[in-house]
Amino acid sequence: MRIVMMGPPGSGKGTRAHIISELYGIPVITTGDMLRGAVREKTEYGLEAKVYMDRGDLVPDSIVNGIVKDRMGKPDLAKGFILDGFPRSVNQADALDEILKKKDVELTHVLSVVLSDKEIIERLSKRRSCPDCNEIYHLVSKPPKKEGICDKCGAKLILRKDDKKTVIRYRLLVYKETTHQLLERYEKMGLVVDTDGEIPFDELHDHLKKLLG
Ligand code: AMP
Repeated sequence: MRIVMMGPPGSGKGTRAHIISELYGIPVITTGDMLRGAVREKTEYGLEAKVYMDRGDLVPDSIVNGIVKDRMGKPDLAKGFILDGFPRSVNQADALDEILKKKDVELTHVLSVVLSDKEIIERLSKRRSCPDCNEIYHLVSKPPKKEGICDKCGAKLILRKDDKKTVIRYRLLVYKETTHQLLERYEKMGLVVDTDGEIPFDELHDHLKKLLG
């Protein structure tokens, strides 16, 4: 299975990607996490990416295409992969086509998470993230056991700079401007499957199994 996840920030793409990963035993490639890792490690491209990420803009294609190409060259993708957060532009979709062509494989699904702007803003402003292991919490629906502390690794949870309300609105705008072209492209290829972003967490496992077969 070779899947691209699409959907606005905070729609539950990542959650779905990880459930699918467990169901089918295929790795998730999350460009947002890879970029945040590079920012933390202060690598050359991490320092460049940070400026764009803090204000909610897309990181230049040259950087993102490079890290995805490297990752897609690794040997653990024989059974497939789930791309979470990539492609996000036509140029990135072209780069992905190129990578897949070289590997002589094709995408099997583009899973599109559908959710209203109002719900997204509500979710992201209450989201808390672990800066060390990337675990995600929600102040109401998935609070950590100990307030402000990651259950998994004990680090102090943060509100990501780009999860502040003004930046969220901007990220949504960026998403809408760029992603609809990609959805149209994948719809023409007959790859798009919609998944309702409001489905409760404990029903997701069965829902995704039904969708993907
Ligand atoms: P995410 O966690 O997927 O919402 O990504 C957080 C931020 O990382 C985005 O707002 C972008 O600045 C950057 N980013 C992640 N993936 C991409 C991508 N495919 N292209 C450009 N920028 C990206």
